[in-house]
Amino acid sequence: MDYVFPPPPQVSVPIVGSDGFFPVRRVYCVGRNYADHAAEMGADTREPPFFFGKPADALVPGGGDVFYPPATSNLQHEVELVVALIGGGASILPAKALDWVYGYAVGLDLTRRDLQQRAKDKGHPWDMGKGFDQSAPIGAIHPLAAVGHPERGAIWLKVNGQLRQNGDLGQMSWKVAEVIANLSTYVALAPGDLIFTGTPAGVSTVVRGDLLEAAVEGIGELAVRLV
Ligand code: MN
Repeated sequence: MDYVFPPPPQVSVPIVGSDGFFPVRRVYCVGRNYADHAAEMGADTREPPFFFGKPADALVPGGGDVFYPPATSNLQHEVELVVALIGGGASILPAKALDWVYGYAVGLDLTRRDLQQRAKDKGHPWDMGKGFDQSAPIGAIHPLAAVGHPERGAIWLKVNGQLRQNGDLGQMSWKVAEVIANLSTYVALAPGDLIFTGTPAGVSTVVRGDLLEAAVEGIGELAVRLV
């Protein structure tokens, strides 16, 4: 096939203990999946899960330097457990959902909170608050065979060495299997899809020069410097 310009490179994420890479198809995110974060956002804590997306090329595999984005004066961090899928389909049963998990990673759902809030107030889409360039730093993927399905364990984030978010995976309102199953009632999932599963309380504003260190127990760490 003749393209009028070279197609963009395949976005991929390194895999722990392997020379192989995980090729990314789509990036989905769950909103408000920890009751304490839903409460700090002033939202109902018992709503069913809802989803939004980020472009695959918003990923920053391995973290490192990330440009402070334009058009915001309130950039916030959300540390999240990320699920990497090796299979999928539509209307997946919760009991079958974990069969499609390839592995897990630590991710950051960077958010231009002021743009997101303005969109919420006006009933506009969240895309410009959530899906901007470099808005999704992600650590290496830990294969299921090495880490199993983490149901509990610390999930935390420090800014310049100071603890800001400190939760536990056990606080997730909708568990990984339920998230996959519910999402698959809206869209067919496929190999290469990533799902950011939501963040615990403690989100806060960060500025240029800040060092963000994020971790999920057993799933490694991720460091980002805003430049
Ligand atoms: Mn999030």
